[in-house]
Amino acid sequence: MSKYYILFGPPGAGKGTQAGAIAKQYNLKHISTGELLRAEIAAGTELGRQAKELIAAGNLVPDSVVEGMIASAFETVKGVDGFLLDGFPRNISQAEDLDRMLEARGESVTGCISIMISDRMIRERIQHRAAIEGRADDASDATVTNRINTYHAQTEPLIQYYKQCGKYHEADGVGTIEEVYKRITEIM
Ligand code: AMP
Repeated sequence: MSKYYILFGPPGAGKGTQAGAIAKQYNLKHISTGELLRAEIAAGTELGRQAKELIAAGNLVPDSVVEGMIASAFETVKGVDGFLLDGFPRNISQAEDLDRMLEARGESVTGCISIMISDRMIRERIQHRAAIEGRADDASDATVTNRINTYHAQTEPLIQYYKQCGKYHEADGVGTIEEVYKRITEIM
């Protein structure tokens, strides 16, 4: 049995910041669908061209696109104890498809770990990140607002989804990187 952890939380919660160290400590493959999509855009692929406008507007890309990326990682990545999913699933349909994908492999989600911050802090963190990472979707207020709205409308219902099966765990996302890291690893 492999481990399948979901690192959950609103944009700017610190998922990407925490994921690298967590994946290393537990020998997990870190898969960020956002990073994979940004790589496709940078490489100028057809998929990247399709995703670019949606991401720039703060909308989700089609489920089939991200699910294809996840399925291919599950197929090809070897030599790890499991996966740390960052930014996936992003809506109920993706969560159901993930359950089906894992069931077909005789596996299941190990746990969903949620990094929680307020809407006000989402904006502060994203403003700060915009200056450092230069992500196009961090730069515009309208896009950030749409990402926050998308999170509440489509992604937040996953909290209930994972609570129902007893797999939801919450870590307070306020504090230093080390403090939040400690909270996450205690849950794991
Ligand atoms: P992130 O780096 O996780 O903040 O993702 C950046 C953007 O990529 C999001 O705002 C979406 O447009 C897109 N994206 C990332 N993951 C997904 C997903 N699981 N489903 C749909 N769109 C996604």
